[in-house]
Amino acid sequence: MTDPHDIRVTIDLDALALNYAALRARAGDSEIAPAVKADAYGLGAAPVVDRLWSEGARSFYVARLAEGVALRRSLGDRLANIYVLDGATPGAGDALEGANLIPVLNSLPQVEAWNAQARSGRLRAALHVDTGMNRLGLRPEELKVLLASTDRLKRLDLDLVVSHLACADDPEHPLNAQQRDRFEEASRLLPGVRRSLANSGGLFLGEAYRFDQARPGVSLYGGGPQGRPHPEIRAVAKVEAPILQVRVVPRGESIGYGAGWTASDNTRVAIVAAGYADGVPRAAFPRGEVWFDGARRPMLGRVSMDLIAVDVTDCDPARPGAMVELFGANLPVDDAADAAGTTAYERLTRLTPRGVRRYVGASR
Ligand SMILES: *Cc1c(COP(=O)(O)O)cnc(C)c1O
Repeated sequence: MTDPHDIRVTIDLDALALNYAALRARAGDSEIAPAVKADAYGLGAAPVVDRLWSEGARSFYVARLAEGVALRRSLGDRLANIYVLDGATPGAGDALEGANLIPVLNSLPQVEAWNAQARSGRLRAALHVDTGMNRLGLRPEELKVLLASTDRLKRLDLDLVVSHLACADDPEHPLNAQQRDRFEEASRLLPGVRRSLANSGGLFLGEAYRFDQARPGVSLYGGGPQGRPHPEIRAVAKVEAPILQVRVVPRGESIGYGAGWTASDNTRVAIVAAGYADGVPRAAFPRGEVWFDGARRPMLGRVSMDLIAVDVTDCDPARPGAMVELFGANLPVDDAADAAGTTAYERLTRLTPRGVRRYVGASR
């Protein structure tokens, strides 16, 4: 049932395509392999991948095996390269092979497991080399150990060598150049293997970071490459919620749990049907804002599970049923996230499970 009072999420696939084009322009001749993990950052992997495929994308990254299996199914006969960042985890071999997924091998045991999986023939693989993130991947010295005994790779077609930047959103950070240099050095040990280093932020660090393939995620989906709005990147997701009630809070009275905000004057307040169960971070108070009737308007008082209060002083159109924008083209997701001490990544992957979701722009 669709209730006009539902929270509404609108995903603009044309804006997605424009962001893809903007990132391609930044990438030069290097391939763009979109990161579509976590259901394409909450926007819906199937419609997002359908549109990116029709824009020309042929390689995609997921994090989990199950995401890769689901993506393979939704692609049907469209033969994309699907890379699984978790790699060849224990017990995953048959499922990876069965769905024709390419694990990004993160450790010597993963390399061994995938090489053993290839008993009946050859299997494709990507190799993750850690250059300073210290999360996943072989250390450069482990790569040397691996290459000293070609046995361990003998049944693998090494497709790609990958590393991941820790500070790409901060162009001034010295770790960027260090990681780039370590990556260059490590990949010299793998002549002829394609190389992939840049995420969204990396594509904005200059040509030296492009290599053969980039793996952007957040900037396809409307987050700026440096954690703030960027003129080349458009909003893709818009979240709107309806006003349920408008009231005047008399001077000296408070709003919400814990009496978190007290009116220093009589204040006209809209009570909006969105709360932390809809992905509004509890930390959005006291700095959070919404967009309504042409302006940003502050949230007043604590975020509840289902409700927030918003200052609508001198705002005539505020009435029950009118929709306020939590983030979107008017209020960038980076700003909405920053006001709550979080990131566009987290706001997007926590889009509401309630309400109605609508896609605009052709998906195929
Ligand atoms: C998530 C992820 C990406 C995409 O990063 P963005 O910052 O969203 O562009 C690329 N590579 C790896 C290894 C990742 O985990």
